[in-house]
Amino acid sequence: MVKPATVACPTCQREVLWTEQSQWRPFCSKRCRMVDLGAWLSEERAIPGDAAPDPGEADSAQPASSVPARPS
Ligand SMILES: [Zn+2]
Repeated sequence: MVKPATVACPTCQREVLWTEQSQWRPFCSKRCRMVDLGAWLSEERAIPGDAAPDPGEADSAQPASSVPARPS
Protein backbone atom coordinates (compact mmCIF):
# COMPACT_ATOMS: atom_id res chain seq x y z
CA MET A 1 0.00 0.00 0.00
CA VAL A 2 1.25 3.44 -0.85
CA LYS A 3 0.41 6.10 1.66
CA PRO A 4 -1.01 9.13 -0.15
CA ALA A 5 1.19 12.15 -0.01
CA THR A 6 0.01 15.10 1.98
CA VAL A 7 0.81 18.76 1.86
CA ALA A 8 0.17 21.54 4.33
CA CYS A 9 -2.46 24.00 3.23
CA PRO A 10 -0.60 27.29 2.66
CA THR A 11 -3.44 29.20 4.27
CA CYS A 12 -4.38 27.22 7.36
CA GLN A 13 -1.57 24.65 7.52
CA ARG A 14 -4.09 21.84 7.57
CA GLU A 15 -2.97 18.58 6.11
CA VAL A 16 -4.26 18.09 2.59
CA LEU A 17 -4.24 14.76 0.82
CA TRP A 18 -2.52 15.07 -2.52
CA THR A 19 -5.09 13.13 -4.45
CA GLU A 20 -7.39 13.77 -7.35
CA GLN A 21 -10.19 14.22 -4.85
CA SER A 22 -8.43 17.25 -3.42
CA GLN A 23 -9.32 19.60 -6.20
CA TRP A 24 -8.08 22.65 -4.33
CA ARG A 25 -4.66 21.27 -3.49
CA PRO A 26 -2.32 22.46 -2.27
CA PHE A 27 -5.11 24.24 -0.45
CA CYS A 28 -7.53 22.29 1.72
CA SER A 29 -10.56 24.06 0.29
CA LYS A 30 -11.74 26.62 -2.18
CA ARG A 31 -12.07 29.08 0.65
CA CYS A 32 -8.42 28.76 1.62
CA ARG A 33 -7.46 29.14 -2.00
CA MET A 34 -9.47 32.34 -2.27
CA VAL A 35 -8.07 33.61 1.02
CA ASP A 36 -4.55 33.10 -0.25
CA LEU A 37 -5.37 34.75 -3.54
CA GLY A 38 -7.09 37.61 -1.75
CA ALA A 39 -4.12 38.14 0.52
CA TRP A 40 -1.83 38.18 -2.47
CA LEU A 41 -4.00 40.68 -4.27
CA SER A 42 -4.47 42.93 -1.25
CA GLU A 43 -0.72 42.94 -0.75
CA GLU A 44 -0.33 44.15 -4.28
CA ARG A 45 -2.88 46.85 -3.73
CA ALA A 46 -1.37 47.84 -0.39
CA ILE A 47 1.64 49.31 -2.15
CA PRO A 48 0.91 53.03 -2.43
CA GLY A 49 1.53 54.60 -5.78
CA ASP A 50 3.51 57.48 -4.31
CA ALA A 51 5.81 55.43 -2.09
CA ALA A 52 8.87 56.19 -4.18
CA PRO A 53 11.74 57.55 -2.10
CA ASP A 54 12.24 61.26 -2.37
CA PRO A 55 15.21 61.84 -4.66
CA GLY A 56 17.47 64.77 -3.97
CA GLU A 57 17.49 64.27 -0.22
CA ALA A 58 19.66 61.19 0.24
CA ASP A 59 22.01 62.22 -2.56
CA SER A 60 22.96 65.53 -0.96
CA ALA A 61 25.26 63.99 1.67
CA GLN A 62 27.97 62.74 -0.66
CA PRO A 63 28.33 61.81 -4.32
CA ALA A 64 27.64 58.14 -4.84
CA SER A 65 30.64 57.79 -7.15
CA SER A 66 33.08 58.34 -4.27
CA VAL A 67 31.72 55.43 -2.27
CA PRO A 68 33.34 52.09 -3.14
CA ALA A 69 30.71 49.62 -4.24
CA ARG A 70 32.26 46.73 -2.36
CA PRO A 71 35.27 46.51 -0.07
CA SER A 72 37.88 44.13 -1.37
ZN1 LIG B 1 -6.74 25.47 4.40
